[in-house]
Amino acid sequence: MPSKPAHPEHPVVKITAKGASRLKAGHVWVYRSDIENAAGVPPGALVDVQDHRGRVVGSALYSTASQITLRLISRQALGQADLPGLLAERLRAAIQFRRQMVKETDAYRVVFSEADQLPGLIVDRYHEVISLQALTQAMDQRKEDIAAVLWDELGPASIVERVDPRIRELEQLPPGEAHLLRGEQTKTVITMNGVKFHCDALGGQKTGAFLDQRENYAAAAQYARGQALDVFCYQGGFALHLAGKCSSVTAVDSSRPALEQADQNAGLNNQEVEWIEANAFDLLRDYADSGRQYDTVVLDPPAFAKSKRVLDGALRAYKELNLRALKMLRPGGTLVTCSCSFHVSEAEFLAVVGEAASDAGRIVRLIEKRGQAKDHPVLVGVPETSYLKCLVLQAI
Ligand code: SAH
Repeated sequence: MPSKPAHPEHPVVKITAKGASRLKAGHVWVYRSDIENAAGVPPGALVDVQDHRGRVVGSALYSTASQITLRLISRQALGQADLPGLLAERLRAAIQFRRQMVKETDAYRVVFSEADQLPGLIVDRYHEVISLQALTQAMDQRKEDIAAVLWDELGPASIVERVDPRIRELEQLPPGEAHLLRGEQTKTVITMNGVKFHCDALGGQKTGAFLDQRENYAAAAQYARGQALDVFCYQGGFALHLAGKCSSVTAVDSSRPALEQADQNAGLNNQEVEWIEANAFDLLRDYADSGRQYDTVVLDPPAFAKSKRVLDGALRAYKELNLRALKMLRPGGTLVTCSCSFHVSEAEFLAVVGEAASDAGRIVRLIEKRGQAKDHPVLVGVPETSYLKCLVLQAI
């Protein structure tokens, strides 16, 4: 029998038993392979989610393009008219959560998608500039309403929309550039843990600074001393936090624009850092082979495992970096080592570090197991919200 098109005013999407059990277990995504019937449902629609037995198990936002077809927004059945109020309520709750949790900064994540029950929406605050990113058709359609709530609640100077071209293509959204939604300001200076950074909300590979590492910067500074090496330094997040504590800091990145910005950030803080443009793998091999020694090393590489397929290669890369770093640590020295690959679990990352320690002939203590800053909360039941691993190690 041909499937009946959903009523456009109140679409229903029917999902498989597997999809339903995933939702029951606490997840909020239904993949395309678990959709039984979504005939006629328009892009970005609010839909009733019906399980294989015909029971409505909640309301979700629908994508006609993504493999993540449904993102649950409520475990209740919502009417179309309820959605704007619910979004505003969730935004206010997200803001309130940060008021409780975020300290020592005027730059933080205001909304972290699923973890704030606002799937597909990222909002960051950079002092008086707000940056908003819509990752789904549903949030893209509602971004003006969202901006209006943020404007009223946070009173910023401006709101910028950031775009990730790859995500827009996957969601079949029209391509576009980052642009102002409200106000005029796009540049500012942010302060994290007393360290200042220039921030350009319309530029940068990621806006200005890595907010998810903010609490790890402070932790690294707490242990740092002597001669320090920050590998994959970007615009100096770790390096500038170490500079106040160490006798010298050398920082490495392959991106010249990032290093130029890092140098400006050093000036802003009256700090001196030696910035080196190099491939980190080559540089670490040369430095380790030539017997250089450090008291503090930070490794914060890009996500090597962007998918499960490349996991083995990623683990080899993490091992090589950690091996060389451990070889260069003076006795009693600290290694702060990070992985932002969701596909590399904390256990796998620890195992890799263990192998590196063994190959380097070092005895290593685990001082702290850390993750994302608290403004990037992890939602229990949604493992994808947990991606950042940061280990503080001491080599004795
Ligand atoms: N630690 C930084 C964030 C690092 S992001 C902070 O806290 O702000 C990862 C960085 O790795 C990027 O700046 C990128 O330019 C750099 N990078 C990627 N591959 C590299 C390589 N092979 N050698 C050196 N740097 C590299």
